[in-house]
Amino acid sequence: MVARFIVEVFTDICFRAMELITILNRCHHFRGFVYHGARFTSDHKSIEISVRPRKRSAAICSRCHQPAPGYDQLPERRFEFIPLWGFFVFLLYAMRRVDCRHCGAVVVEEVPWGDGKRTLTRAYMLFLARWARRLSWKETAEAFRTSWEKVFDAVEHVVTWGLEHRILGQIDAIGVDEFQYAKGHKYLTLVYQIDIGITRLLWIGKERTIESFQGFFTAMGKDVISKIAFVCSDMWEPYLKLIRENCSEALHILDRFHIVANINKALDNVRAEETSRMKREGLAPVLKKSRWLLLRHSENLGVEQHFRLRDLLRYNLKTVRAYLLKEAFQQLWEYTSPAWAGKFLDEWCRQTMRSRIEPMKKIARSLRKHRELILNYFRAQKLLSSGVVEGLNNKAKVTMRKSYGFRTYRVLELALYHSLGKLPEPESTHDFF
Ligand SMILES: [Zn+2]
Repeated sequence: MVARFIVEVFTDICFRAMELITILNRCHHFRGFVYHGARFTSDHKSIEISVRPRKRSAAICSRCHQPAPGYDQLPERRFEFIPLWGFFVFLLYAMRRVDCRHCGAVVVEEVPWGDGKRTLTRAYMLFLARWARRLSWKETAEAFRTSWEKVFDAVEHVVTWGLEHRILGQIDAIGVDEFQYAKGHKYLTLVYQIDIGITRLLWIGKERTIESFQGFFTAMGKDVISKIAFVCSDMWEPYLKLIRENCSEALHILDRFHIVANINKALDNVRAEETSRMKREGLAPVLKKSRWLLLRHSENLGVEQHFRLRDLLRYNLKTVRAYLLKEAFQQLWEYTSPAWAGKFLDEWCRQTMRSRIEPMKKIARSLRKHRELILNYFRAQKLLSSGVVEGLNNKAKVTMRKSYGFRTYRVLELALYHSLGKLPEPESTHDFF
């Protein structure tokens, strides 16, 4: 009776194991290797599948990628595969070592489903990495009952492969952007390709210094850099200097998005300063909750907000005068001729310099200093819209929020390349996701 039961259970397990191996042979088959048997572990949480080398197939040296005579075999290792119906799945394989004449050394073999150092199979890494682009890394780890560190490993593998295999090709236009990623003035430098047909993140620098940004030109190489026709950046001096030196042939444009952002920042400083001054002097808090009213484009205000704004504009406040200067500046972008745009810019700067509002005067001085680069926007016939860089900047912010488990530079670097780099992916035997 007991014997019959055991036979039945055994047959049952073998039957299911066979089906699983049939599926694996369909979607995850490699020449030179065979799936041998599948079974549950004693705790019934995992399925283990043995892999063996096919008879008379030579092992491949992992250093020179050539077949080589066998030397010995290492203890069995577990490679984690994509989980199935709530079970962990492991491939069990004893790696062989080869005595490679070409390399003149005993080297561990290369296996097509994994790499020597990682415990996850390539298929599982690609699977996790694809999910990590849609979900946060933490959510990905939870969904597949794995750890955040394994998701990190997976993304690192896929991004490293992608960076090694990407094709730069001809790059016509780039946008350079600083990106604040932590408190205390921690900035990255991001360089995007902003061609009409393709926008992608090309490069990340750890700081926004000259030394850091120089790394971009070195990484891309003279050939790629010399063909760049347009460069779009903000007014950060190290960027301006290196662009001048490395892309002397390109038309350098100061990005509209950054100029508007700087003016808004100045206006906000004026408002904050005046609000606290009025509070100190015991005046009515007319500026209270006016922040978004003032920073928004007036065309985007609702009816009620419009009335509130009109109310506010009756006061003779520095904030109001700064606001009117900001709104007047918008007209600049409507010009098509660089000459007329230049005349407008000069007049705006002249008025602003007489405003006796220091943060706005600072903007005017900076605009005067970079007059030619601003007018290049019109010389480029507005071909490069500021929306591109702004859009990428926003995407980068979303990515930062999604990837963060630990606020380290490496994590952010990987996450940004992964979601904005449009990198090629390692080949796979099957689309598991
Ligand atoms: Zn070798």
